[in-house]
Amino acid sequence: MGNKAYRFRLYPNQEQQQFLAKCFGCSRFVYNYFLRLTTDIYVDSKKSLRYKEWSKLLTSLKKEFQWLQEVNSQPLQQTLKDLETAYSRFFKGLAKFPRFKKRSNKQSFRVPQNFSVTEEGKLKLPKMSPMKMVIHREIEGDIKSVTISQTPSGKYFASIATELDIPKAPLNGEKIGMDLGLKDFCITNKPERFENPRYFQRSLRRLKIRQRRLSRKAKDSNNRKKARVKVAKIHEKVANQRLDYQQKISLKLTNENQVISCEDLNIKGMVKNRKLSKQISDVAWGQFLTLLEYKGDIYGCEIKRVDRFFPSSKRCSKCGYIKEDLTLKDREWTCPECHAHHDRDINACWNLLQFSDSKIPLEERKSTPNQTVEMQCIKSVSS
Ligand SMILES: [Zn+2]
Repeated sequence: MGNKAYRFRLYPNQEQQQFLAKCFGCSRFVYNYFLRLTTDIYVDSKKSLRYKEWSKLLTSLKKEFQWLQEVNSQPLQQTLKDLETAYSRFFKGLAKFPRFKKRSNKQSFRVPQNFSVTEEGKLKLPKMSPMKMVIHREIEGDIKSVTISQTPSGKYFASIATELDIPKAPLNGEKIGMDLGLKDFCITNKPERFENPRYFQRSLRRLKIRQRRLSRKAKDSNNRKKARVKVAKIHEKVANQRLDYQQKISLKLTNENQVISCEDLNIKGMVKNRKLSKQISDVAWGQFLTLLEYKGDIYGCEIKRVDRFFPSSKRCSKCGYIKEDLTLKDREWTCPECHAHHDRDINACWNLLQFSDSKIPLEERKSTPNQTVEMQCIKSVSS
């Protein structure tokens, strides 16, 4: 069984927009209310409330704030589940402590059941008339849930999650090693190179102009609101271009291969480097790896993450010699042992492939933290 997600644009009418605003508002209210309550109670008594308690309290909250009853109750329950997820991600060290939801950020709520797509292709949610939706591709599989969202620029979307049986592609045995970088976005041992389009960098000038205009507008004015939408639209466009680019590459790679070996990057640690954080956020490796895994699942391609302390650049992929004095400036080098001539990045890809195929003896798989790929990236750009 595989999962698929579809994102369709929604065009709610005036009345529907008002109702959606209520749903966003109630979800946000419930999320923030329980986040605050849980924090307060914890500070007072060291007792931590969780979904079970929240869920019971929600019933009494609805009596206190009757307007909460105007919206469907499922999204409110889902909000509590999201809060639970946010808490457990925090306790696992995967995320920061949950933050309050703001009106100016992206708004969303999830409906787990009792919704449908009508014959005219409209989206029917509980307590609402069917909403106009543009279904630009066929929905495959059983529909599991729908998330309604509104971007800061004011567009509405429905994300539909489905579950389906996906026939695995026949094994053709293609395996590749893949390296991610800032100069080239992605390189494989074949070799293939995909350039780094730097969408955010390219939009910086426009963004700066828009941000300057925004900062000059009077607080709480209508013009400020309009200016904020314009800034949000630029961010949205950058995110869309980036996603589109990564969708294409990940589709190509997962379609053509059965195994992709790549380095397990410590992206969070890298973003802490102030000089590089913008470039690293712009290149969005994390999103790309998520896409690869998602598509790999669908098309039967395994993504193998290689220990990030493995010295993939310094090892000769032909004979296994480790060139300790290889510096970041050496884009090409010749192995003193077997005289093979290497392109630095492509050699690294070959090593990643051999590593995940267990063709490298165990003692060579040991590694030292100062050879991590993130340190290399940081140094190569700083120098
Ligand atoms: Zn060699």
